[in-house]
Amino acid sequence: IPRTTPETEEIKRRHKHISPILSLSYSRPIFMVRAAFQYMYDGYGNAILDAYNNIPHVGHSHPKVVEAGQQQMAQLNTNTRYLYDLLPRYSEKLLSKFPKSLNKVYFVNSGSAASDLALRMVHSHTKRKKLMVMEHGYHGNTQMGIDVSDYKFNNAKGAGKKEHILKTPIPDTYNGKYKEKNAGSLYAKEAIEQISNSVEPIAAFISEPIVGCGGQVPLADGYLKEVYPAIRERGGVCISDEVQTGFGRLGDHFWGYEAQEVIPDIVILGKPMANGHPMGALVTTDEIASSFNEGVEFFSSFGGNPVSCAIALSVLEVIEEEKLQKNAKEVGDHYKSLLLALKKEHKCIGDVRGSGLFLGIEIIDEKTQKTNRKLAHRIKNELRNKNILISTDGPHDSVLKTKPPLCFTKENAETVVSAIDSILKN
Ligand code: PMP
Repeated sequence: IPRTTPETEEIKRRHKHISPILSLSYSRPIFMVRAAFQYMYDGYGNAILDAYNNIPHVGHSHPKVVEAGQQQMAQLNTNTRYLYDLLPRYSEKLLSKFPKSLNKVYFVNSGSAASDLALRMVHSHTKRKKLMVMEHGYHGNTQMGIDVSDYKFNNAKGAGKKEHILKTPIPDTYNGKYKEKNAGSLYAKEAIEQISNSVEPIAAFISEPIVGCGGQVPLADGYLKEVYPAIRERGGVCISDEVQTGFGRLGDHFWGYEAQEVIPDIVILGKPMANGHPMGALVTTDEIASSFNEGVEFFSSFGGNPVSCAIALSVLEVIEEEKLQKNAKEVGDHYKSLLLALKKEHKCIGDVRGSGLFLGIEIIDEKTQKTNRKLAHRIKNELRNKNILISTDGPHDSVLKTKPPLCFTKENAETVVSAIDSILKN
């Protein structure tokens, strides 16, 4: 790493007032100045291929999204205590993407606010506290969000698991204890045993369909199909966190839970929903909404404002007009097949997993077959030096994560894979 880089002054300037608890990506951080579609541009004239950021879902600075925000900002921005067309118009459009039973929506400004609200709703609906959470899961930065996020409470600096939390093993068919065809069932059995053995009855179960912070781990096939009915039989609520997996990214499905052939009781949305404008939402059933509506009034100053709704509406329109779910499927399949071919050549690639444009590459030590954080970080940083963005995550931070804007092309995928190949050959 060069001691002084063009970014050095900017790093110093940032740290004057910004706490280092807000980490910077890469050994050599990037000074960004603009972005368009799947490209970002730094302050030194470099175009950088973005194979990482899933928030600019339909592409950075997409002109239709930018225009929707600009026009609405110049016309009206207010809160949900007034009547305006965009709130019901966007709600109808969003809910048309869900099964009929999920027909109530609450708008907030982040994924964290959505998961926090989900937990409040669970409490008002069930009057219970016991929550089952997924090993390595992450759901938000509020205190309640951290309480249900093994990724945070189980961190070396975390406060540990609270009494009211049941943590269930991640149904991982690569690193986990069950790898066989019926692994989903075997993991589900363990989860069901945990809730059956709990003295306190279960209030809810929360999980992502592909556990992002856990290292892009898809839940083993058939898992939720067995766990959800068991939760419901005991009066509990099933929550699917679609903050990362939603809005067509997975290619085969618009929502991740569809791959598991289940319908949740609460769905949490965020990140890609408004392409980077801060917006989150919670979608639920009439029944859960009416329990919640009996309590104190719910209000969010910014949630569901006309500007947010206009932007989010334009995102759904662009997904349809540009057939981005189909693109995620086609480009994602191509990308995954190239990565699987690379795995055959390089023994340090232990696993390639995920769906559509939401993929993970597990980097291992050739000799021990154990996770290899050091090499994963070397690949990530060398890719950055080649002007390609990718990240690492997972319990050992050894999984390369790629989840680009959905306008990513097959050629872009080829660029990333051949860059990884050349790094591994050197
Ligand atoms: N759920 C999941 C699965 C997430 O990945 C995140 C953010 N990484 C959140 C919730 C929280 O969203 P936000 O950062 O918008 O509060």
